Amino acid sequence: MSDPRHHYLARHIVDLPKSGIREFFDIVSTRQGVISLAIGEPDFDTPWHIREAAMFSLERGATHYTGNAGLMSLREAIAAYVRRRFGGNYNPAREVLVTVGASEGLDVALRAILNPGDEVLYHEPCFVSYGPEIAMAHGVPVPVETHVEDNFRLSVAALEAKVTPRTKALIVNFPNNPTGAVLEREDVEAIAQFALKHDLFLISDEIYAELTWGGKKHVSFASVPELRDRLILHHGYSKAWAMTGFRMAYVCAPDWVMETILKIHQYQIMCASTASQYAALEAMRQPEEDMAPMLRAYEQRRNYLRAAFAEAGIPMHNPAGAFYAFPQIAKFGLSSREFAVRLLDAENVAVVPGTAFGACGEGFVRCSYATGMEQLKEAALRIGRFVKTL
Ligand code: PMP
Repeated sequence: MSDPRHHYLARHIVDLPKSGIREFFDIVSTRQGVISLAIGEPDFDTPWHIREAAMFSLERGATHYTGNAGLMSLREAIAAYVRRRFGGNYNPAREVLVTVGASEGLDVALRAILNPGDEVLYHEPCFVSYGPEIAMAHGVPVPVETHVEDNFRLSVAALEAKVTPRTKALIVNFPNNPTGAVLEREDVEAIAQFALKHDLFLISDEIYAELTWGGKKHVSFASVPELRDRLILHHGYSKAWAMTGFRMAYVCAPDWVMETILKIHQYQIMCASTASQYAALEAMRQPEEDMAPMLRAYEQRRNYLRAAFAEAGIPMHNPAGAFYAFPQIAKFGLSSREFAVRLLDAENVAVVPGTAFGACGEGFVRCSYATGMEQLKEAALRIGRFVKTL
């Protein structure tokens, strides 16, 4: 029943659905001793020297605003990283913006390009925020399904079926939350050509870029030179550097787009946290060394979970990136939500129903392996025991 006072509030916000993840976390929080595979952030703490850099910056008195776009030294380091790892060329003075997480980056990018009623394509199952963020920017969210049969890769045929003259942009996220899917070079080229053919912006959320497994290498949309003028690239420190609490990320975009994005950031945020920017600068100085042990641990856990699910007779595609497994539970005759609720009840293990990530997530649950190996082993044992009862 809707509250009659809601007509005083902004209709497009009141009408947004509540996050399916939140609803499930509320149930989880009422229970004791739960093993949670529901969490979407690294279980590792931020490497110590990165934390120290933030503390030292405060000791040195760096307690003031930085320039709106962020510290120039950080933007230079970002531009160098994006060139080296992603193959994209951005001018640090005019084409790189340091944001308060990719969450802010996605919001300012959408608000900079959308007029009311513009449609935005995005693929499902996906990160819970895309649809609401599009709607909050007065756009119209248009989901495009991806399927387990294609390893959740995004096909141009599916995009062609949803594009209209009102389509303004396409959001893509690979490696993907929640499916763990990655794209091959030919997919990236084909999707880029689709965006160019229909004169769209391509907003690429590559926040899991470093997290790829089984010898797969991330292919960035920034490596397609023809796309440069229409690409808005997002990346950040939350995942590979385990820095979620620092709220540090960045956007790279051509100068004519960035000018408009920067206006929003300037009026709304001023600048990202100064201490966090110093931490990110330190992270940029030694990225590979820091990440290696965490990446090795994630890959071991992924391999363990694949083997455990196979042994328990739970089908799963190959999650080649990010830190999520997306097993298919449809054959057990329960909806995703029922499966998650009953698993929690019976075995005290929390997983997220696939439907939290879009309607086509029905029949799946998301299991995050950003959880210690011991916990993961116990969770897999309990899940195996649970499915035997179905
Ligand atoms: N994009 C995706 C695909 C994510 O999974 C997340 C975090 N779960 C974000 C963006 C938000 O990241 P940040 O912490 O940088 O705001």
